[in-house]
Amino acid sequence: MAKHVSFEFFPAKTEKGKQNILSASKTLSSLKPEFFSVTFGAGGSDQQTTFDTVLGVQNTSGIATASHLTCVGSSRERIGSILDNYKANNINRLVALRGDLPMGMDDPGEFQYANELVSFIREHSGDYFHIEVAAYPEKHPQSIDHKEDLNNFVQKVKAGADSAITQYFYNPDGYSYFVDECMSAGLDIPIIPGIMPIGNFESLSRFSDACGAEIPRWLRIRLESYEHDPVSLTAFTNDYITEMCVKLIEQGAPGLHFYSMNKVEPNMQICKAVMAHFPDQFEQ
Ligand code: FAD
Repeated sequence: MAKHVSFEFFPAKTEKGKQNILSASKTLSSLKPEFFSVTFGAGGSDQQTTFDTVLGVQNTSGIATASHLTCVGSSRERIGSILDNYKANNINRLVALRGDLPMGMDDPGEFQYANELVSFIREHSGDYFHIEVAAYPEKHPQSIDHKEDLNNFVQKVKAGADSAITQYFYNPDGYSYFVDECMSAGLDIPIIPGIMPIGNFESLSRFSDACGAEIPRWLRIRLESYEHDPVSLTAFTNDYITEMCVKLIEQGAPGLHFYSMNKVEPNMQICKAVMAHFPDQFEQ
């Protein structure tokens, strides 16, 4: 089966930012991505901007665009009406997530976990949506241990997911072990590695601490050493991410999902380099 790439955007607040996403999606569509996706703020705060962005990207690029959908703090009625609205607008891909309750809120509403959202989507809309779910090769930060997290992931997939996208990581071996364990647990869906190109080390470090993605010690030391040399930082990180992607494809990954940060570069450069390594394997 052909490998494919996909790219994630987050909704922009300004008109300039919105135009930038549309333009990036047009440029990146030359790589024939299987889909684009657009994130959805926890607590429903970004619901309209996510919808507008999904529609804009899908119409501009001609590529199927998935809406992320979080359920925490929401209700069946509300999620049901979001699903109906997506269906009425020909949006047929979702990344179904629990999300995180905003600080100060402690009522999860009618959904506790993402597996309940997946079940509800199937109950409400049958097979209309292609559903992706989130996977965590390095464990979700709230899980007590790896085994418990894996069991919860298996349950979530069995609720009706078509495929999964992982949290980003910089340890390709961890991804391989995770995929092997999923297969041993009876799953046969594609588990697409999430790729986060490295731009600013400080913000990456902060974000990684919060979401539980490890930056290996050797890599952290390297990145810190380029603090005052952004040109070398970019050259090194693009090389490293390209090599990691090549390794992942060699290990059998079904494709690559880029957390694009709404940018064309370095995503384009990395994708082209990886595709050049495997000229017959990618949808081109
Ligand atoms: P779940 O799968 O529900 O898991 C959350 C935790 O609960 C885990 O520790 C799990 O082991 C545990 N758990 C799951 N099911 C059960 C159960 N039945 N019983 C007991 N414990 C259980 N956040 C956003 O706000 N907006 C986005 O657009 C967004 N996009 C994302 C895209 C990707 C690819 C990824 C990897 C993450 C994304 N996130 C997003 C972050 C995500 O919302 C958080 O990681 C959140 O904390 C967990 O969401 P989940 O869907 O993985 O939750």
